[in-house]
Amino acid sequence: MGRSCGRSARHSENTRLPPETRPEITTQISAAKGGFDSFGLGQSIVRGIEFAGYETPRPIQTETIPSVLEGRDVLGLAQTGTGKTAAFALPILESLMARRTPGPSVLILAPTRELASQINAEFTTLGQFTPVRSTTVYGGVSIKRHIQALRARPNIVVACPGRLLDLYRQNSINLNGISTLVIDEADQMFDMGFMPDVRAIIDLVSSNRQTLLFSATMPKEIRHLANRILKNPKVVDLGNSKIVSTIEHELYPVAQQRKFNLLQFLISDKDFKSAIIFMRTKHRALRTARQLQNGGYNAVALQGNMSQVQRDRAMQGFRDGKYKILVATDIAARGIDVANISHVINFDFPNTPDSYVHRIGRTGRSEQSGRAFTFVTPDDEDAVRALERKLGRKVNRCVLPDYTKNGARPVAASATQSKPGQQSESALEAARERLNQRDPGQRPGRKPKTHGGYQPTRGKQARSRHRKHAVRSQ
Ligand code: AMP
Repeated sequence: MGRSCGRSARHSENTRLPPETRPEITTQISAAKGGFDSFGLGQSIVRGIEFAGYETPRPIQTETIPSVLEGRDVLGLAQTGTGKTAAFALPILESLMARRTPGPSVLILAPTRELASQINAEFTTLGQFTPVRSTTVYGGVSIKRHIQALRARPNIVVACPGRLLDLYRQNSINLNGISTLVIDEADQMFDMGFMPDVRAIIDLVSSNRQTLLFSATMPKEIRHLANRILKNPKVVDLGNSKIVSTIEHELYPVAQQRKFNLLQFLISDKDFKSAIIFMRTKHRALRTARQLQNGGYNAVALQGNMSQVQRDRAMQGFRDGKYKILVATDIAARGIDVANISHVINFDFPNTPDSYVHRIGRTGRSEQSGRAFTFVTPDDEDAVRALERKLGRKVNRCVLPDYTKNGARPVAASATQSKPGQQSESALEAARERLNQRDPGQRPGRKPKTHGGYQPTRGKQARSRHRKHAVRSQ
């Protein structure tokens, strides 16, 4: 790639399984053991698999499908992009073919509307040659639509917790018949504050059920939940809190006021195809998407203040390639699976090391290569140290002096500096030209503030800023 900033950074940290969860731990699964035919799935489901174009089961499918077919509980440490949805969808479809009752018997909980839609789409594809029917329920759209859909007594309901409880409280859904409960992206549910709703729903569903719990990471709250609700689970660990080796990721020290210029510089790379740019707040996502649109880029925002229709349109447009750049809050950090994202750019440093892993995992999917660039301002240095502690290694820094200072300040601390000469000359030329332009956030006639220069700060001030941002997102 033309804009390599030196060595690629690869990760070697291990996912830790909950110590209390002992049975049959499968770690670091490397290869599928057999074809789809080894599962003994019915003909109508096999046709669905063929239609989807899946030739070989993914590791998580090989490990999970037989256990789900046996009726066992499963704890899956896996994130979206691994083939996790089919890992539970295929055996669920199979069991519904054997015993189907009118009304929902499978309930799938997902943290975001986008993920719920994605899961439902997978069921629709794989189950299209079966009589099994599914529907989604989530906030942001008319509840009447859901009531109507539930009257048709679908077999599977894919739901976000809040809307599901609303429907339950007004007697529009009967949960008595639920025999399989899937909780997907449990750690994100926790981060988004949905755990009380999730616990309430678990209590409404028969305890004599099969439970499948998937989470990309295993914070103690999820471990406790798993211990409480899973019975003798099969544990499948895909080592997900690792960063896959197909992702090259680098830190870019930058002065706060130079972030947009640096962004423009990076996305002018010839290898740039499409990117998700992560922002800390909804407002910043909206503003940066507008700045990019005004600069002639094919960009769209995705953040929690948008209506469901706007969110769907943005997501669909990004999937279809109508938009090359999605400027998003952490709403898009997990679960969303879009092929061919060449770059992830953390315009604002992620709030937690886990969030870093999730965000950059949006690229380098399905064994393709991807690049992730993270902007680091002086205030972020504490968070960088926390990230590197978690990863057990330093992340390569790419220092472009033009962007680390507002005026003529020298570049400050840098762990692993790469030479600007590694950039292609024409790209640097273009970048220099852009540097002569006014910063987007700077009003004409005003002297640029100098305090945005790259001067790493430590301690209380930076930490309090990170804490402040940690509570507002989506
Ligand atoms: P998921 O983790 O469920 O979001 O899946 C990620 C992507 O992998 C989706 O686009 C699926 O359609 C695709 N996928 C799932 N299983 C397979 C498979 N066995 N072979 C090829 N693609 C698959």
